[in-house]
Amino acid sequence: MSGPRAPCLLRKALYLGRPAGYSKKVEDILEKAREKRLTVAMNSQWPFSIDDYEEICGKIRIEEKNILFVRMSPFSPGRVMIPESVPHPLSILYCRLGAGEIQALNFELDGVGGMSIRFTYVFETRACDVLIKLVHQKTPPRDFSFGFNEKIVSRSLDLNRYEIYFNFGKSKLKITDPLELSVMNFMEAVENGTEPLIGHPHILHNTVLLEKIDDGFGEFERDIYGKIREKEHDFSSKLRQEATLQRLKDYIHWQRRCDLDAPDRGLPIFSPTSINLDLTSACNFSCPFCVDSKLTNAGKSLTLEEVKQTVDTLHSHGLLSVILIGGGEPTLHNHFGEIVRYIKSKKLQIGIVTNGSRLEKIETIVAHWKKKIGSGFLSMPPGKKSSGTYTCPKPESL
Ligand code: SF4
Repeated sequence: MSGPRAPCLLRKALYLGRPAGYSKKVEDILEKAREKRLTVAMNSQWPFSIDDYEEICGKIRIEEKNILFVRMSPFSPGRVMIPESVPHPLSILYCRLGAGEIQALNFELDGVGGMSIRFTYVFETRACDVLIKLVHQKTPPRDFSFGFNEKIVSRSLDLNRYEIYFNFGKSKLKITDPLELSVMNFMEAVENGTEPLIGHPHILHNTVLLEKIDDGFGEFERDIYGKIREKEHDFSSKLRQEATLQRLKDYIHWQRRCDLDAPDRGLPIFSPTSINLDLTSACNFSCPFCVDSKLTNAGKSLTLEEVKQTVDTLHSHGLLSVILIGGGEPTLHNHFGEIVRYIKSKKLQIGIVTNGSRLEKIETIVAHWKKKIGSGFLSMPPGKKSSGTYTCPKPESL
């Protein structure tokens, strides 16, 4: 068929919110584009700077074993960095080494929201060990560096003149804007009816690899969160322990028999295994979804004596753990540190549900306890009431 080819330059990799069969969907889209005679290219411009790279670092020698390092600084932290940044190194690999496969993929989390992605790119009968370092950076100009076999160039910009440089050791080279080269390549392809450098085969190849990396990160993330969850205290499992099961049944039986507001109901023979203790109604947040919004900042707090008395009474009836929880932010209680220490002195387990704005309060206590017993004693599971817990009544006044 002949006729004009409509142009379509994708600013980013086609990344469709990661539906199942992502690569296949991209393939379908590109196939439709082909039917409509669209010239499609993707803006993955860094392969266009390879000539400049070789001018400053010398010719890239492709050996049996090679190394590629790329450092990029995407705008957003976390998993979204993968579709935002990884297409660029994948394009450098495809353009310089040809089609390949990913093996030995692994991840590391760096600092807040950063990550390192390592894999071996196997092409022909050779291999390239790849390290992609992603460090999110909100403001431009973003740091960028890359290089083969330990010859790393860093990019710098003269924003007044909009000039781009590669820096290698003491050498500095003004380079042609790779974005400009990418657009020119695309326009030539449209004019000549040819495939652009970052065209169909390139996009499809890299989509498959991008999907593999993103899926790999998903598994890595699940693994990490699984390990974190294992470390959290599981208060509800205490209720299932054989030693406490009968107590729990007796307690529930007592609860069912009594109207909770009846003044003469007395105390149960056994206390609950775990209680939720609302220390204060004071809160430094005003979350729109707060279920306690009618109670917060009502000027109510348990006194230190009330807390101690409650803990003493229930402890003497077999209490095992206390969760300091809401209706407010527990770390705002004037005696928060002392209360935690008192509960720990009774050898009770403790949970703290906090909005996280005053973690230094908790750190201080952990540091104190570490000094005392040589190990940490707190974990912070997500707040959750388990069945059979007992919420202490809020006091009427401060
Ligand atoms: S931090 Fe908790 S208690 Fe405070 S307003 Fe938000 S949800 Fe409510």
